[in-house]
Amino acid sequence: MKITEHVHAIKIPFQVKTDSGTLERFVYSYLIFGDEICLIDSGVSSSEKFIFDYLEKTGHTPDEISLLILTHSHPDHVGSAQSIQKVSGCEIAAHEGEKSWIEDVDLQFMERPVPNFHSLVEGSVKVDHVLEDMDVVELGSNINLKVIHTPGHSKGSISIQIPSERVLITGDAVPIQGDLPIYDDFTGSIQSIKMLMGVEDVELLLASWDEPQKGENVHQRMVEALDYLQNIKKIVEKLASENSSSEPMEFCKTVLKELGLPKPAANPIVARSFQANLKELE
Ligand SMILES: [Zn+2]
Repeated sequence: MKITEHVHAIKIPFQVKTDSGTLERFVYSYLIFGDEICLIDSGVSSSEKFIFDYLEKTGHTPDEISLLILTHSHPDHVGSAQSIQKVSGCEIAAHEGEKSWIEDVDLQFMERPVPNFHSLVEGSVKVDHVLEDMDVVELGSNINLKVIHTPGHSKGSISIQIPSERVLITGDAVPIQGDLPIYDDFTGSIQSIKMLMGVEDVELLLASWDEPQKGENVHQRMVEALDYLQNIKKIVEKLASENSSSEPMEFCKTVLKELGLPKPAANPIVARSFQANLKELE
């Protein structure tokens, strides 16, 4: 899907199987066309066929991808990085905070056991370039990618601003109302969303788990994300004061029920988010 002249979106569908059912999901990857092509996030395992098909359809070839930027290390972002690098020969860039989990996915799985992890991720890749807040990646033809460190969802999550296109790519930094709430650091997440709200001259918001948002919807999405997080905080605090079960999965199910989210949403990763809220209460 063409978003602007130089920015295109690829929607990648996939499934997550949990004990309580199957979740139909999708994730977006983005292609940025300068003199070279930069891919933002690689999708889950086997996403390369969607990405390469799209390139072919638009008159390009995979070997034009010179850089793959990973907004963070989670499975639906790094899943097909290995195949994409193998075919295109691209270099890979990410924030220091994500490097160890990108370069060693077994370590990531050990420390953050996402259900179906090994069917979602092909394997580890080396990070060739470490990106920092305020870094600028030049793709030629006046297409510059500005790196914004937006921790919270994960410690090295980054967003990418493309000023010439009035585009802001946020990875998973801006949660969607009613979707799985996932963060390592609750307050960090809030601060990052507030920081993104302050980025000037943004016409298009491109997140990984959301349809592209335009115009006043950009600000609206961020307001909703903050409301959603504050609502979660309120529910966690209420349940904690009522002495609900402190076993993480049981607590997770109780919070989800209060939030009105479906039962299959209960998994160890979402449970971690609510544990992060509890930790802040201590
Ligand atoms: Zn993520």
